[in-house]
Amino acid sequence: MPSLLVRDAALIRLASLRLSHFFSSLPFLVGAVAAARLPGLSEFFVSLFNVLPTLLLLLGGAFCLVYGRQREVFLLLVVYVGYFLLDIQVDHFRDNGQVREDAALVFHLICLLLPLLYALYGCWEERSHLLQDIFARALVLLAVGAVALGLARRYPQGIAEWLAQIHWPSLHAPWMSLAQLAYLVFLIAFIALLVQYLRRPRPLHAAQLVGLIGLFWMLPQVFILANALQVVSSMVMLMLVAAVAHEAYQMAFRDELTGLPGRRALNERLQRLGRDYVIAMVDVDHFKKFNDTHGHDVGDQVLRLVASQLRKVGGGGKAYRYGGEEFTLLFPGKSLEQCLPHMEAVRLAIEHYRMQLRDKHSRPRDDREGKQRRAGKTASEVSVTVSMGVAQRQAEQRTPQEVIKAADKALYSAKAAGRNCIRSAGHRRGAVKVSTPVD
Ligand code: GH3
Ligand code: MG
Ligand code: MG
Repeated sequence: MPSLLVRDAALIRLASLRLSHFFSSLPFLVGAVAAARLPGLSEFFVSLFNVLPTLLLLLGGAFCLVYGRQREVFLLLVVYVGYFLLDIQVDHFRDNGQVREDAALVFHLICLLLPLLYALYGCWEERSHLLQDIFARALVLLAVGAVALGLARRYPQGIAEWLAQIHWPSLHAPWMSLAQLAYLVFLIAFIALLVQYLRRPRPLHAAQLVGLIGLFWMLPQVFILANALQVVSSMVMLMLVAAVAHEAYQMAFRDELTGLPGRRALNERLQRLGRDYVIAMVDVDHFKKFNDTHGHDVGDQVLRLVASQLRKVGGGGKAYRYGGEEFTLLFPGKSLEQCLPHMEAVRLAIEHYRMQLRDKHSRPRDDREGKQRRAGKTASEVSVTVSMGVAQRQAEQRTPQEVIKAADKALYSAKAAGRNCIRSAGHRRGAVKVSTPVD
């Protein structure tokens, strides 16, 4: 079975990293840090943040369960338990002016277990049956909790001292105010969640990463800033719930394979267009044959590459996956003349993009052949082309649906003209041939 070479696969993955994945989490982190640093919160907000973690656990947890996101339910639970245990300590400190007897032990244990369990649940994807999955997760939480509680009860002094000890003096920095071991766990947790995000970039994985940063910022401030605990815990929980909502929205409006907005998003956008706009329909040439020759999996990868080129279209254009191997480019507020050079640039970029295929299962017969293959001499190169039909809104075609129809018609002419070219329809000067096919 052929597959794309690592370089192309990595490029596809790189193209799916997006700043927008952080939109449902980063603002909450910034807001949390800003609010926690305020010298005094109004009474209303103090009361709000006092109930918010519990509210988020119940409502957010139920919401996540409905979407089958047990992972987030347990992340919420872990953050909540950490918040709850620390809150008892902070309340006591606030009311009495001194910390409880067990404060150091509880604090150090939480600094260690919170990032550990957070990363564990964050990386533990939902796979098995819903109830089995919940049972397994609950079992882990109970087991870790029971061991920690048992040890803390039996050897309170020893555990507290061991945790507070500086184990590696050469790695210690003056700014480190948590137990040194906690930094190690946070570092491992951060790397694990970062790798997870890079391997599978999506809002949930981004939120988990940002949430961990929030907890890392919060812990040293718990006894220093009056509202840090409530505010940051609430916001970390909120960003997890918001990320689930963000993904639910994406499920409806984004195409999963290419990451482009899908047909539903296009239909929404078409309802909000102004007077002038241009729509181009893009279709991959001879794609059925490509699939038959190289397999559906390579076909899928190629669609992702085509999408990543279309996404780069200039001139204010936006790409959508219309369906199958058809895409739409939408240029709001633009005329045909303004868009054509950008479409032509994309068509050329796709035409000139060479993808290398390797056959996973056919091993080189001898060393020489192996070397040749690695040098790329026998790896087959493939490329695809696209045809485009473009139409502009004007008197004859007033509605977006009519413009799409005209663009579709132009696409047929592009196919008929030999493919790998752009044809325009419904232009005042009549149909114009924009670019010539190569073959
Ligand atoms: P033409 O140049 O006339 O467009 O020829 P074509 O073969 O591209 O046209 P046709 O519409 O007959 O074939 C489209 C093919 O696209 C059929 C289907 O196998 C393939 N296709 C549609 N969606 C997907 C997809 O998501 N993944 C893959 N791998 N193939 C797809
Ligand atoms: Mg087609
Ligand atoms: Mg096609």
